Amino acid sequence: MMTKPLLGIFGGTFDPIHRGHLACARYVVEHCALKQLALMPCHLPPHRATPGVSSEQRAAMVKLAIANEPTMRLERLELNRTSPSYTVDSLRALKQQQPDTTLAFIIGMDSLQYFTKWHQWLQILELAHLIVCRRPGYSADQGDAPMLLARYGATLSQLQQQDAGKILLLDNPDFYESATFVRQQLASDRRVQAMLPAEVLEYIRQHALYGC
Ligand code: ATP
Repeated sequence: MMTKPLLGIFGGTFDPIHRGHLACARYVVEHCALKQLALMPCHLPPHRATPGVSSEQRAAMVKLAIANEPTMRLERLELNRTSPSYTVDSLRALKQQQPDTTLAFIIGMDSLQYFTKWHQWLQILELAHLIVCRRPGYSADQGDAPMLLARYGATLSQLQQQDAGKILLLDNPDFYESATFVRQQLASDRRVQAMLPAEVLEYIRQHALYGC
């Protein structure tokens, strides 16, 4: 079977994007020889959004963070919708746009642990592979992870030979950053600033976001 180029999609709230996200994205690009990686901020309804931080601002921070990453781009699909969208719908749309690529949806171990709670998770696996980054504090022995890895776990070369349905667990280093921690501590603890790319920190200051 002819292998199609692998397109990575990294979905998230990115509220804000931090060095952990970037490190995961770079690790996946390098280790999985991705043709391209699209960072796809999700739509947040006004009552769930962080007060004072709009979707456009989350997207602007993603753009700044990847300005010097030639393989990465911002995917606006979910932001352009007026209601929250499911990952499965976004993957369907991307597959229609680019039928000649294989989709790989990138998540952290915290997300794999409850992946079977995601809307139409089986259909997600019919449309795409999952590439999972390890994350400190979240073991592969908890939640849905053991069952999913036993059933769908694969090596990179096995994943490259299929169009969807495999789960690759990466052996990435520990990245300790978390957006929740950044949101809670940024204003009061200057050390947290180191979790953010310099351009993102500058944007946050300029726009007085997260209490800064
Ligand atoms: P929050 O703390 O608000 O939940 P987050 O730091 O987990 O935010 P998200 O935007 O929710 O950031 O994450 C998008 C994806 O990136 C998720 O699948 C998450 O598991 C993964 N991710 C985020 N940070 C890390 C990290 N440090 N290591 C591995 N995966 C991560």
